[in-house]
Amino acid sequence: MRIDLHAHSTASDGTDTPAELVRNAAAAGLDVVALTDHDTTRGHAAAVAALPEGLTLVTGAELSCRLDGVSMHMLAYLFDPEEPALLAERELVRDDRVPRARAMVARLNELGVPVTWEQVARIAGDGSVGRPHVASALVELGVVPTVSDAFTQDWLADGGRGFVEKHETDPFEALRLIKGAGGVAVFAHPAAAKRGRTVQEASIADLAAAGLDGIEVDHMDHDEDTRARLRGLAKELGLLTTGSSDYHGSRKTCVLGEYTTDPEVYGEITRRAFGAFPVPGAGGA
Ligand SMILES: [Zn+2]
Ligand SMILES: [Zn+2]
Repeated sequence: MRIDLHAHSTASDGTDTPAELVRNAAAAGLDVVALTDHDTTRGHAAAVAALPEGLTLVTGAELSCRLDGVSMHMLAYLFDPEEPALLAERELVRDDRVPRARAMVARLNELGVPVTWEQVARIAGDGSVGRPHVASALVELGVVPTVSDAFTQDWLADGGRGFVEKHETDPFEALRLIKGAGGVAVFAHPAAAKRGRTVQEASIADLAAAGLDGIEVDHMDHDEDTRARLRGLAKELGLLTTGSSDYHGSRKTCVLGEYTTDPEVYGEITRRAFGAFPVPGAGGA
């Protein structure tokens, strides 16, 4: 069984529509794929409608959090999308995305980069606008060669010259909300140092004590040593470990199924969740 528990669509900053994403997941030989757009469940219905036979969809989202000034992402799986408290928090985070992207454009203009809000909005399309869209605009303008090159201190990395903070949820509050909506919480790419500062191991222990279910270990932003260290930490703390592509379509280089999650861990995630169930594909349009 091949299981990829982290993928983005055009509902946030991926380049595949939700329907394209599930078709590509089936074509990549996956048995299970999770749709985890940033702070939104908007792509779920279209993904379910297009779900090919033989592919199971895990509904989810990747929630923007911040702990002690450090941005971090929390994957939430199989929560009830209608549960009001978690829904309200997702909206709060999303509503802040447009003013924040506009503020980054203004900051880049001050740095002499002729990026416009119209350009960023066009790149985002109807997805919830985020930093990768601003990064893509910098690539279009020839300021940097790739999106990754925009995530530096010169440009858009945390604390970088063009960076603007956004509303992010306290992760302990996020855990409370995810659990309250029947979901399972996995800390995404916890040691992805090239994205900026990462949270301390002691904080991961505190999150584990507060109900965190697992950490994402096999991820493109973790090298072998980091993975080994995280696996040890997870064992110590009794956390599940997952592996995922964090697929963004053509916006990033990783491919669906590049990293996968152990079927036993997947089984445990589905056992713990009670907000939603995995959706088996019935051969969508
Ligand atoms: Zn992330
Ligand atoms: Zn992601």
